[in-house]
Amino acid sequence: MNEECGVFGIYDRGGNCARSVYYGLYALQHRGQEDCGIAAINNLELSCHKGPGLVGDVFSERILTELAGTTAIGHVRYATTGGLHRDNTQPLTLTYIKGSLAVAHNGRLINSAELKREYEYKGAVFHTTTDSEIIAYIVAQARLHSGSAEEAVNQAVKRLKGAFSLIVMSSRKLIAARDPWGFRPLCIGRKGDAVIFASESCALDSVEATFVRDVEPGEVVWVFDGKLHSNKENCTGKASLCIFEHLYFARPDSIIDGQSVYGARLNAGRALAREYPIDADVVVGVPDSGLVAAKGYSLASGIPYNDGFIKNRYIGRTFITPAQATREEEVKIKLNPLRATVSGKRVIVIDDSIVRGTTLVQKTGLLREAGAREVHVLSASPKYISPCYYGTDIPTKEVLFAYNYSTEEMRKIIGADSLGFLPLKDLAIVAPDSKCGFCDACFTENYPVE
Ligand code: SF4
Repeated sequence: MNEECGVFGIYDRGGNCARSVYYGLYALQHRGQEDCGIAAINNLELSCHKGPGLVGDVFSERILTELAGTTAIGHVRYATTGGLHRDNTQPLTLTYIKGSLAVAHNGRLINSAELKREYEYKGAVFHTTTDSEIIAYIVAQARLHSGSAEEAVNQAVKRLKGAFSLIVMSSRKLIAARDPWGFRPLCIGRKGDAVIFASESCALDSVEATFVRDVEPGEVVWVFDGKLHSNKENCTGKASLCIFEHLYFARPDSIIDGQSVYGARLNAGRALAREYPIDADVVVGVPDSGLVAAKGYSLASGIPYNDGFIKNRYIGRTFITPAQATREEEVKIKLNPLRATVSGKRVIVIDDSIVRGTTLVQKTGLLREAGAREVHVLSASPKYISPCYYGTDIPTKEVLFAYNYSTEEMRKIIGADSLGFLPLKDLAIVAPDSKCGFCDACFTENYPVE
Protein backbone atom coordinates (compact mmCIF):
# COMPACT_ATOMS: atom_id res chain seq x y z
CA MET A 1 0.00 0.00 0.00
CA ASN A 2 1.06 3.53 0.28
CA GLU A 3 1.66 6.21 2.76
CA GLU A 4 0.16 8.37 5.40
CA CYS A 5 2.29 11.49 5.17
CA GLY A 6 2.54 15.09 6.24
CA VAL A 7 3.37 18.08 4.06
CA PHE A 8 4.36 21.64 4.91
CA GLY A 9 5.36 24.59 2.73
CA ILE A 10 6.11 28.25 3.34
CA TYR A 11 6.79 31.37 1.31
CA ASP A 12 8.47 34.03 3.43
CA ARG A 13 10.65 36.65 1.78
CA GLY A 14 12.12 37.80 5.07
CA GLY A 15 12.33 34.62 7.12
CA ASN A 16 14.32 31.44 7.41
CA CYS A 17 11.94 29.17 5.55
CA ALA A 18 13.78 25.90 6.11
CA ARG A 19 13.69 26.44 9.87
CA SER A 20 9.92 27.06 9.77
CA VAL A 21 9.45 23.88 7.73
CA TYR A 22 11.54 22.01 10.30
CA TYR A 23 9.17 23.12 13.10
CA GLY A 24 6.15 22.38 10.92
CA LEU A 25 7.38 18.87 10.17
CA TYR A 26 8.05 18.32 13.87
CA ALA A 27 4.37 19.03 14.52
CA LEU A 28 3.40 16.63 11.72
CA GLN A 29 5.75 13.85 12.81
CA HIS A 30 2.77 11.67 13.83
CA ARG A 31 1.87 11.41 10.11
CA GLY A 32 5.10 9.66 9.17
CA GLN A 33 8.24 8.60 10.95
CA GLU A 34 10.22 6.65 8.40
CA ASP A 35 11.91 9.44 6.51
CA CYS A 36 11.65 13.15 5.88
CA GLY A 37 13.06 15.97 3.78
CA ILE A 38 13.14 19.70 3.14
CA ALA A 39 13.69 21.47 -0.21
CA ALA A 40 14.28 25.22 -0.47
CA ILE A 41 14.59 27.81 -3.22
CA ASN A 42 17.00 30.69 -2.88
CA ASN A 43 17.63 33.06 -5.83
CA LEU A 44 16.14 30.43 -8.18
CA GLU A 45 18.60 27.81 -6.82
CA LEU A 46 17.06 24.60 -5.49
CA SER A 47 18.64 22.77 -2.56
CA CYS A 48 17.33 19.73 -0.75
CA HIS A 49 18.22 17.53 2.18
CA LYS A 50 16.41 14.32 3.06
CA GLY A 51 17.02 11.05 4.81
CA PRO A 52 15.65 8.17 6.87
CA GLY A 53 14.50 8.80 10.42
CA LEU A 54 12.74 11.40 12.49
CA VAL A 55 12.86 15.12 11.74
CA GLY A 56 15.05 15.76 14.78
CA ASP A 57 17.57 13.17 13.59
CA VAL A 58 17.75 14.12 9.91
CA PHE A 59 18.34 17.88 10.28
CA SER A 60 21.01 19.78 12.13
CA GLU A 61 21.65 23.49 12.67
CA ARG A 62 24.23 23.43 9.88
CA ILE A 63 21.87 21.76 7.38
CA LEU A 64 19.05 24.20 8.13
CA THR A 65 21.41 27.13 7.63
CA GLU A 66 22.57 25.71 4.30
CA LEU A 67 18.93 25.29 3.21
CA ALA A 68 18.19 28.99 3.64
CA GLY A 69 15.66 30.26 1.09
CA THR A 70 12.61 32.40 0.49
CA THR A 71 10.42 29.37 -0.18
CA ALA A 72 10.68 25.87 1.26
CA ILE A 73 8.61 22.69 1.42
CA GLY A 74 8.95 19.59 3.56
CA HIS A 75 7.60 16.11 3.96
CA VAL A 76 7.39 13.38 6.60
CA ARG A 77 6.69 9.92 5.28
CA TYR A 78 5.40 6.55 6.24
CA ALA A 79 5.79 4.27 3.26
CA THR A 80 5.47 0.69 2.22
CA THR A 81 5.37 1.13 -1.56
CA GLY A 82 8.92 0.86 -2.80
CA GLY A 83 9.99 0.13 0.75
CA LEU A 84 12.32 2.46 2.52
CA HIS A 85 14.38 3.08 -0.59
CA ARG A 86 16.16 6.39 -0.21
CA ASP A 87 15.10 7.58 -3.69
CA ASN A 88 11.46 7.50 -2.56
CA THR A 89 12.02 10.06 0.17
CA GLN A 90 10.26 13.35 -0.48
CA PRO A 91 10.22 16.16 -1.51
CA LEU A 92 10.82 14.85 -5.04
CA THR A 93 12.97 17.36 -6.89
CA LEU A 94 13.72 17.81 -10.56
CA THR A 95 15.36 20.36 -12.82
CA TYR A 96 13.99 20.86 -16.34
CA ILE A 97 13.86 23.41 -19.13
CA LYS A 98 11.56 25.73 -17.14
CA GLY A 99 13.65 25.66 -13.97
CA SER A 100 13.28 23.63 -10.78
CA LEU A 101 10.39 21.79 -9.25
CA ALA A 102 9.90 20.13 -5.87
CA VAL A 103 6.83 18.09 -4.90
CA ALA A 104 5.59 16.89 -1.50
CA HIS A 105 2.56 14.63 -1.59
CA ASN A 106 0.19 13.00 0.89
CA GLY A 107 -2.20 10.32 -0.34
CA ARG A 108 -2.35 7.68 -3.02
CA LEU A 109 -3.29 7.81 -6.68
CA ILE A 110 -5.47 5.01 -7.98
CA ASN A 111 -4.50 5.62 -11.62
CA SER A 112 -0.73 5.79 -11.07
CA ALA A 113 -0.03 2.56 -13.03
CA GLU A 114 -1.87 3.87 -16.14
CA LEU A 115 -0.23 7.28 -15.88
CA LYS A 116 3.21 5.77 -15.41
CA ARG A 117 2.80 3.50 -18.42
CA GLU A 118 1.53 6.37 -20.56
CA TYR A 119 4.50 8.58 -19.74
CA GLU A 120 7.02 5.73 -20.05
CA TYR A 121 5.79 5.18 -23.61
CA LYS A 122 6.48 8.87 -24.19
CA GLY A 123 10.05 8.38 -23.04
CA ALA A 124 9.88 9.19 -19.34
CA VAL A 125 12.33 7.39 -17.07
CA PHE A 126 11.20 7.08 -13.46
CA HIS A 127 13.75 6.72 -10.70
CA THR A 128 11.41 5.94 -7.80
CA THR A 129 8.31 3.87 -7.17
CA THR A 130 6.28 6.70 -5.64
CA ASP A 131 3.19 8.45 -6.95
CA SER A 132 4.94 11.72 -6.17
CA GLU A 133 7.43 11.30 -8.99
CA ILE A 134 4.58 10.68 -11.44
CA ILE A 135 2.90 13.86 -10.20
CA ALA A 136 6.15 15.84 -10.54
CA TYR A 137 6.60 14.53 -14.08
CA ILE A 138 3.01 15.36 -15.11
CA VAL A 139 3.36 18.88 -13.69
CA ALA A 140 6.68 19.38 -15.52
CA GLN A 141 5.15 18.12 -18.79
CA ALA A 142 2.08 20.32 -18.36
CA ARG A 143 4.29 23.32 -17.64
CA LEU A 144 5.81 23.04 -21.13
CA HIS A 145 2.39 23.82 -22.63
CA SER A 146 0.92 26.21 -20.06
CA GLY A 147 1.66 29.79 -19.17
CA SER A 148 2.43 29.30 -15.48
CA ALA A 149 3.39 26.71 -12.89
CA GLU A 150 -0.01 27.01 -11.17
CA GLU A 151 -1.79 26.34 -14.47
CA ALA A 152 0.45 23.27 -14.91
CA VAL A 153 -0.60 22.02 -11.45
CA ASN A 154 -4.23 22.71 -12.35
CA GLN A 155 -3.81 20.63 -15.52
CA ALA A 156 -2.17 17.85 -13.52
CA VAL A 157 -5.04 17.78 -11.00
CA LYS A 158 -7.39 16.95 -13.90
CA ARG A 159 -5.30 13.88 -14.75
CA LEU A 160 -4.80 12.51 -11.23
CA LYS A 161 -7.37 10.20 -9.68
CA GLY A 162 -7.44 9.30 -6.02
CA ALA A 163 -6.16 10.92 -2.86
CA PHE A 164 -3.63 13.73 -3.02
CA SER A 165 -2.84 16.78 -0.98
CA LEU A 166 0.12 18.36 -2.73
CA ILE A 167 2.59 21.14 -2.22
CA VAL A 168 4.58 22.09 -5.30
CA MET A 169 7.46 24.55 -5.30
CA SER A 170 8.61 26.03 -8.58
CA SER A 171 11.49 28.46 -9.01
CA ARG A 172 9.21 31.41 -8.20
CA LYS A 173 6.00 30.08 -6.72
CA LEU A 174 4.58 27.98 -3.93
CA ILE A 175 1.48 26.04 -5.01
CA ALA A 176 -0.87 23.73 -3.09
CA ALA A 177 -3.62 21.47 -4.41
CA ARG A 178 -6.13 19.11 -2.88
CA ASP A 179 -7.86 16.34 -4.80
CA PRO A 180 -11.51 16.98 -5.79
CA TRP A 181 -12.70 14.46 -3.17
CA GLY A 182 -10.64 16.04 -0.38
CA PHE A 183 -9.49 12.70 1.05
CA ARG A 184 -6.53 14.20 2.90
CA PRO A 185 -6.51 17.51 4.73
CA LEU A 186 -4.61 20.63 3.68
CA CYS A 187 -4.87 24.09 5.19
CA ILE A 188 -3.58 27.62 4.70
CA GLY A 189 -2.00 29.86 7.32
CA ARG A 190 -0.40 33.29 7.51
CA LYS A 191 2.26 34.80 9.68
CA GLY A 192 2.84 38.44 8.80
CA ASP A 193 3.66 38.43 5.09
CA ALA A 194 4.47 34.72 5.07
CA VAL A 195 1.99 32.22 3.58
CA ILE A 196 2.00 28.62 4.78
CA PHE A 197 0.39 25.40 3.56
CA ALA A 198 0.21 22.42 5.91
CA SER A 199 -1.44 19.03 6.29
CA GLU A 200 -2.89 19.98 9.67
CA SER A 201 -3.54 23.18 11.58
CA CYS A 202 -1.37 21.99 14.50
CA ALA A 203 1.65 22.63 12.23
CA LEU A 204 0.53 26.25 11.74
CA ASP A 205 0.41 26.63 15.52
CA SER A 206 3.97 25.33 15.78
CA VAL A 207 5.27 28.32 13.76
CA GLU A 208 2.85 30.77 15.39
CA ALA A 209 0.94 31.25 12.16
CA THR A 210 -2.75 32.11 12.02
CA PHE A 211 -5.13 29.65 10.44
CA VAL A 212 -6.72 31.24 7.35
CA ARG A 213 -8.82 28.41 5.89
CA ASP A 214 -8.70 24.90 4.48
CA VAL A 215 -7.81 24.32 0.85
CA GLU A 216 -11.12 23.27 -0.71
CA PRO A 217 -11.36 19.83 -2.32
CA GLY A 218 -10.28 20.32 -5.95
CA GLU A 219 -8.83 23.79 -5.34
CA VAL A 220 -5.39 24.95 -6.47
CA VAL A 221 -3.93 27.82 -4.43
CA TRP A 222 -0.63 29.59 -4.96
CA VAL A 223 1.49 32.36 -3.57
CA PHE A 224 3.08 34.87 -5.89
CA ASP A 225 4.79 38.02 -4.63
CA GLY A 226 3.33 37.39 -1.20
CA LYS A 227 -0.28 37.28 -2.42
CA LEU A 228 -2.55 34.27 -2.25
CA HIS A 229 -4.43 33.25 -5.42
CA SER A 230 -6.92 30.47 -6.07
CA ASN A 231 -8.39 28.42 -8.91
CA LYS A 232 -11.53 26.40 -8.11
CA GLU A 233 -12.08 25.05 -11.60
CA ASN A 234 -11.69 21.44 -10.40
CA CYS A 235 -13.95 21.80 -7.34
CA THR A 236 -17.06 19.65 -7.62
CA GLY A 237 -18.77 20.56 -4.35
CA LYS A 238 -18.59 16.93 -3.27
CA ALA A 239 -16.12 15.91 -0.62
CA SER A 240 -15.01 12.67 1.02
CA LEU A 241 -12.51 13.50 3.73
CA CYS A 242 -11.16 10.28 5.23
CA ILE A 243 -13.13 9.84 8.46
CA PHE A 244 -10.02 8.22 9.95
CA GLU A 245 -8.35 11.64 9.96
CA HIS A 246 -10.70 12.46 12.83
CA LEU A 247 -10.67 9.05 14.47
CA TYR A 248 -6.98 8.18 14.22
CA PHE A 249 -4.54 9.98 11.92
CA ALA A 250 -4.71 13.64 12.83
CA ARG A 251 -3.53 15.27 16.02
CA PRO A 252 -6.37 16.12 18.44
CA ASP A 253 -5.36 19.78 18.50
CA SER A 254 -5.93 20.10 14.76
CA ILE A 255 -9.07 21.50 13.15
CA ILE A 256 -9.93 19.96 9.79
CA ASP A 257 -12.55 21.46 7.48
CA GLY A 258 -14.12 23.27 10.42
CA GLN A 259 -14.25 20.27 12.78
CA SER A 260 -12.04 19.91 15.83
CA VAL A 261 -10.40 16.49 15.85
CA TYR A 262 -10.58 16.48 19.66
CA GLY A 263 -14.31 17.22 19.50
CA ALA A 264 -14.88 14.40 16.99
CA ARG A 265 -13.14 11.89 19.25
CA LEU A 266 -15.11 13.08 22.30
CA ASN A 267 -18.31 12.63 20.26
CA ALA A 268 -17.30 9.09 19.30
CA GLY A 269 -16.77 8.27 22.99
CA ARG A 270 -20.11 9.81 23.97
CA ALA A 271 -21.86 7.76 21.27
CA LEU A 272 -20.22 4.59 22.60
CA ALA A 273 -21.49 5.40 26.11
CA ARG A 274 -25.05 5.72 24.80
CA GLU A 275 -24.79 2.51 22.79
CA TYR A 276 -22.94 0.40 25.40
CA PRO A 277 -23.98 1.39 28.96
CA ILE A 278 -21.56 -0.95 30.78
CA ASP A 279 -21.45 -1.32 34.57
CA ALA A 280 -17.76 -0.65 35.25
CA ASP A 281 -15.39 1.10 37.71
CA VAL A 282 -13.06 2.92 35.34
CA VAL A 283 -12.73 3.84 31.67
CA VAL A 284 -9.29 3.99 30.08
CA GLY A 285 -8.08 4.71 26.55
CA VAL A 286 -5.36 3.10 24.48
CA PRO A 287 -2.71 5.82 23.94
CA ASP A 288 -2.73 8.02 22.03
CA SER A 289 -5.71 8.08 19.72
CA GLY A 290 -8.07 6.18 22.07
CA LEU A 291 -7.62 8.58 24.99
CA VAL A 292 -10.04 11.33 23.94
CA ALA A 293 -12.81 8.87 23.05
CA ALA A 294 -12.36 7.33 26.52
CA LYS A 295 -12.83 10.81 28.04
CA GLY A 296 -15.99 11.21 25.96
CA TYR A 297 -17.32 7.90 27.27
CA SER A 298 -16.53 8.96 30.83
CA LEU A 299 -18.25 12.37 30.42
CA ALA A 300 -21.40 10.77 29.06
CA SER A 301 -21.55 7.82 31.47
CA GLY A 302 -20.23 9.33 34.70
CA ILE A 303 -17.74 6.44 35.04
CA PRO A 304 -14.35 7.88 36.12
CA TYR A 305 -11.69 8.25 33.44
CA ASN A 306 -8.12 7.30 34.31
CA ASP A 307 -4.82 6.35 32.69
CA GLY A 308 -4.80 2.62 31.98
CA PHE A 309 -1.53 2.40 30.09
CA ILE A 310 1.72 4.30 30.23
CA LYS A 311 3.18 4.71 26.78
CA ASN A 312 6.84 4.66 25.98
CA ARG A 313 7.09 7.98 24.12
CA TYR A 314 10.12 6.98 22.08
CA ILE A 315 8.48 4.38 19.86
CA GLY A 316 6.49 5.14 16.72
CA ARG A 317 2.78 4.44 16.41
CA THR A 318 2.01 0.72 16.28
CA PHE A 319 -0.23 1.01 13.26
CA ILE A 320 2.47 2.24 10.97
CA THR A 321 5.08 -0.45 11.58
CA PRO A 322 5.43 -2.44 8.35
CA ALA A 323 6.16 -5.99 9.55
CA GLN A 324 3.39 -7.84 11.42
CA ALA A 325 5.77 -9.66 13.76
CA THR A 326 7.40 -6.41 14.76
CA ARG A 327 4.01 -4.81 15.33
CA GLU A 328 2.95 -7.46 17.86
CA GLU A 329 6.24 -7.38 19.70
CA GLU A 330 6.13 -3.61 19.84
CA VAL A 331 2.93 -3.52 21.90
CA LYS A 332 4.69 -4.89 24.94
CA ILE A 333 7.61 -2.53 24.60
CA LYS A 334 5.36 0.41 23.93
CA LEU A 335 2.55 0.03 26.46
CA ASN A 336 2.72 -0.80 30.14
CA PRO A 337 -0.57 -1.20 32.04
CA LEU A 338 -1.02 0.94 35.14
CA ARG A 339 -1.66 -1.56 37.93
CA ALA A 340 -2.70 1.21 40.33
CA THR A 341 -5.60 2.12 38.05
CA VAL A 342 -6.87 -1.24 36.87
CA SER A 343 -6.09 -3.80 39.58
CA GLY A 344 -9.27 -5.32 41.00
CA LYS A 345 -11.41 -3.07 38.74
CA ARG A 346 -14.01 -3.60 36.04
CA VAL A 347 -12.28 -1.78 33.19
CA ILE A 348 -13.69 -0.33 29.98
CA VAL A 349 -10.85 0.12 27.47
CA ILE A 350 -11.40 2.19 24.34
CA ASP A 351 -9.23 1.93 21.25
CA ASP A 352 -9.51 4.19 18.18
CA SER A 353 -10.21 1.23 15.90
CA ILE A 354 -9.81 -2.51 15.55
CA VAL A 355 -8.14 -3.30 12.25
CA ARG A 356 -6.05 -6.46 12.38
CA GLY A 357 -6.99 -7.27 15.96
CA THR A 358 -3.61 -8.74 16.78
CA THR A 359 -2.44 -5.98 19.10
CA LEU A 360 -5.74 -6.01 20.97
CA VAL A 361 -5.06 -9.53 22.22
CA GLN A 362 -1.91 -8.20 23.87
CA LYS A 363 -3.61 -5.10 25.28
CA THR A 364 -6.41 -7.10 26.88
CA GLY A 365 -3.86 -9.58 28.22
CA LEU A 366 -1.75 -6.78 29.71
CA LEU A 367 -4.77 -5.37 31.57
CA ARG A 368 -5.64 -8.82 32.95
CA GLU A 369 -2.02 -9.41 34.03
CA ALA A 370 -2.21 -6.07 35.85
CA GLY A 371 -5.18 -7.38 37.86
CA ALA A 372 -8.22 -6.08 35.94
CA ARG A 373 -11.30 -8.02 37.11
CA GLU A 374 -13.24 -7.42 33.91
CA VAL A 375 -12.08 -6.01 30.57
CA HIS A 376 -14.72 -4.50 28.26
CA VAL A 377 -13.31 -3.44 24.89
CA LEU A 378 -14.88 -0.73 22.76
CA SER A 379 -13.80 0.55 19.35
CA ALA A 380 -14.31 4.25 18.58
CA SER A 381 -14.78 3.27 14.91
CA PRO A 382 -17.24 0.91 13.23
CA LYS A 383 -16.11 -2.53 12.06
CA TYR A 384 -13.25 -2.19 9.58
CA ILE A 385 -14.26 -4.66 6.86
CA SER A 386 -12.72 -3.50 3.60
CA PRO A 387 -9.31 -2.26 2.40
CA CYS A 388 -8.42 1.35 1.79
CA TYR A 389 -7.15 2.38 -1.65
CA TYR A 390 -6.52 6.01 -0.76
CA GLY A 391 -3.24 5.91 1.08
CA THR A 392 -3.73 3.85 4.22
CA ASP A 393 -1.74 0.78 5.00
CA ILE A 394 -4.46 -1.91 4.70
CA PRO A 395 -3.63 -4.27 1.85
CA THR A 396 -6.37 -6.93 1.74
CA LYS A 397 -9.63 -8.00 3.37
CA GLU A 398 -8.02 -11.19 4.58
CA VAL A 399 -6.00 -9.35 7.25
CA LEU A 400 -9.04 -7.54 8.64
CA PHE A 401 -10.31 -8.87 11.97
CA ALA A 402 -13.94 -7.84 11.49
CA TYR A 403 -14.03 -9.24 7.96
CA ASN A 404 -12.98 -12.69 9.18
CA TYR A 405 -14.90 -13.04 12.44
CA SER A 406 -18.24 -12.24 14.09
CA THR A 407 -18.25 -9.89 17.09
CA GLU A 408 -18.61 -12.84 19.46
CA GLU A 409 -15.72 -14.70 17.80
CA MET A 410 -13.56 -11.57 18.04
CA ARG A 411 -14.48 -11.13 21.71
CA LYS A 412 -13.34 -14.68 22.46
CA ILE A 413 -10.09 -14.28 20.52
CA ILE A 414 -9.08 -11.11 22.33
CA GLY A 415 -10.21 -12.48 25.69
CA ALA A 416 -12.57 -9.61 26.57
CA ASP A 417 -15.70 -9.76 28.73
CA SER A 418 -17.55 -7.74 26.11
CA LEU A 419 -16.74 -6.09 22.79
CA GLY A 420 -18.51 -3.29 20.94
CA PHE A 421 -17.96 -1.08 17.90
CA LEU A 422 -19.18 2.42 17.15
CA PRO A 423 -22.40 1.83 15.20
CA LEU A 424 -22.28 2.99 11.58
CA LYS A 425 -25.26 5.30 12.16
CA ASP A 426 -23.24 7.23 14.77
CA LEU A 427 -20.53 8.19 12.25
CA ALA A 428 -22.91 10.94 11.14
CA ILE A 429 -22.78 12.62 14.58
CA VAL A 430 -19.03 12.31 15.16
CA ALA A 431 -18.08 15.44 13.21
CA PRO A 432 -21.14 17.72 13.07
CA ASP A 433 -19.13 20.89 12.38
CA SER A 434 -17.34 19.53 9.32
CA LYS A 435 -17.86 21.44 6.08
CA CYS A 436 -16.88 18.26 4.26
CA GLY A 437 -18.59 14.96 3.59
CA PHE A 438 -16.69 11.81 4.57
CA CYS A 439 -15.23 8.69 3.06
CA ASP A 440 -16.26 5.71 5.19
CA ALA A 441 -15.52 3.03 2.59
CA CYS A 442 -13.51 0.78 4.91
CA PHE A 443 -16.68 0.36 7.02
CA THR A 444 -19.29 0.41 4.26
CA GLU A 445 -17.50 -0.58 1.02
CA ASN A 446 -18.99 2.56 -0.59
CA TYR A 447 -15.85 3.81 -2.32
CA PRO A 448 -16.13 7.44 -3.46
CA VAL A 449 -13.73 6.79 -6.35
CA GLU A 450 -13.88 3.45 -8.10
FE1 SF4 B 1 -10.12 6.67 5.13
FE2 SF4 B 1 -11.28 4.25 5.16
FE3 SF4 B 1 -11.83 5.98 3.18
FE4 SF4 B 1 -9.40 4.86 3.36
S1 SF4 B 1 -11.34 3.80 2.95
S2 SF4 B 1 -9.85 7.01 2.95
S3 SF4 B 1 -9.12 4.72 5.62
S4 SF4 B 1 -12.31 6.21 5.39
